[in-house]
Amino acid sequence: SKTPVGFIGLGNMGNPMAKNLIKHGYPVIAYDVFPEACKEFQDLGAQVTDSPADVAERADRIITMLPSSPNAIEVYTGANGILKKVKKGSLLIDSSTIDPSVSKELAKAVEKMGAVFMDAPVSGGVGAARAGNLTFMVGGMEQEFDAAKELLICMGSNVVYCGEVGTGQAAKICNNMLLAISMIGTAETMNLGIRLGLDPKLLAKILNMSSGRCWSSDTYNPVPGVMEGVPSANNYQGGFGTTLMAKDLGLAQISATNTKTPVPLGSQAHQIYRMMCAKGYALKDFSAVFQFLPHLRNM
Ligand code: NAD
Repeated sequence: SKTPVGFIGLGNMGNPMAKNLIKHGYPVIAYDVFPEACKEFQDLGAQVTDSPADVAERADRIITMLPSSPNAIEVYTGANGILKKVKKGSLLIDSSTIDPSVSKELAKAVEKMGAVFMDAPVSGGVGAARAGNLTFMVGGMEQEFDAAKELLICMGSNVVYCGEVGTGQAAKICNNMLLAISMIGTAETMNLGIRLGLDPKLLAKILNMSSGRCWSSDTYNPVPGVMEGVPSANNYQGGFGTTLMAKDLGLAQISATNTKTPVPLGSQAHQIYRMMCAKGYALKDFSAVFQFLPHLRNM
């Protein structure tokens, strides 16, 4: 039988990801700071522990799926963190989207303990997490990639090696900056077309057979009534929260500053998503920028 895998952070993404590991026959050692998140795993027969250190004591492969950099620092290096009890040779995979420079710091601390750290953030969202077809972008030592892939392939259909530690995060941050820009672009374009008298469904159809087509227009259209089964069809509930998008755009800004890279549209997108957070959209899906844009006229 397979050796246990630790899983820390059982939220919107971590919950279905850990379930897919269980489906593939891996005993899961679970921890989340929010006890309600663990309950379901107790019922599924997983071992629920009291701290990340306890997880590290019982499993030599651990996946973390946490909201942001401070949470990851706490879980790895905190008072009851993984590093307090990590075994030599353990493989620690962080799938949270965090600052690549934080991933590098964590990797150094993990290495000091004789263990291995890889960053493996995901693209695909909650639906893909459930279906087990996420895309993983992996950074770390290449000779460890196969060991990481053995676990990640249970949760994703694409597992891509990007380079040294932190490059998985770099790929993820770049993808989400483009996604944010394309979502805002789609929302403002659709809004203009509607105000010019076009039917939104017809306009989306034309865009999607023309050069303006993108993922935001053809699979995640932000205008209610254009598509079914997307957050815009459900009052922007579920999906990818506006706060998380604002966080990722903030990471892109930090990285751009550190590397003196001009990102004028990424910067504008960051400001727009931060304004949305301040105006009551924090918990809505990020495609709600379509709903927010008309308010800019009165600001
Ligand atoms: P979430 O907030 O739903 O889940 C995070 C979980 O981590 C929560 O259950 C929380 O209780 C737990 N947690 C926080 N601090 C902890 C700690 N110190 N110890 C243990 N557990 C702790 O977030 P999510 O939507 O699952 O996203 C997780 C990560 O994946 C984020 O970095 C996000 O940017 C990224 N991501 C999300 C999506 C999406 O569509 N939701 C898609 C791709 C990537």
